[in-house]
Amino acid sequence: MLKLTHFLQRLLMNRYGQDALNTTLILFSLVFSLLSLIDSFLSPFLSIFSFILVSMVLLRFFSKNIFKRRGENQVFLALTAPLYRNIKVMYLNMSDPRRKYFLCPMCKRMVRIPRKKGRVEITCPTCHHHFNARS
Ligand SMILES: [Zn+2]
Repeated sequence: MLKLTHFLQRLLMNRYGQDALNTTLILFSLVFSLLSLIDSFLSPFLSIFSFILVSMVLLRFFSKNIFKRRGENQVFLALTAPLYRNIKVMYLNMSDPRRKYFLCPMCKRMVRIPRKKGRVEITCPTCHHHFNARS
């Protein structure tokens, strides 16, 4: 057991490891693998694409060029942040019956107000931008 631990420590030493981009690539690979089981015509293409994604994940995971991998992940996070922000606002609006959530049009900060107050003017606490919304 100790030998295995040492082996794993030496294997993972100075390697980049897991990040959000890798997690997303794994999820897409899984989706393509499942789709390849359904559609027999597209199956080879989807399997190859899934294999390419898994290869990219492994190359990124075991890469020693940590700064480059970190930069790729930062670009990915910057590109997907608006999407995640909007999904979070939609989720909170569906799950919270007492408050309504908005994103400030200027700075994209999340703002919440009580529901059922009619049309209100909201002032963003960060940038002090005013915008109208229905609660
Ligand atoms: Zn703002």
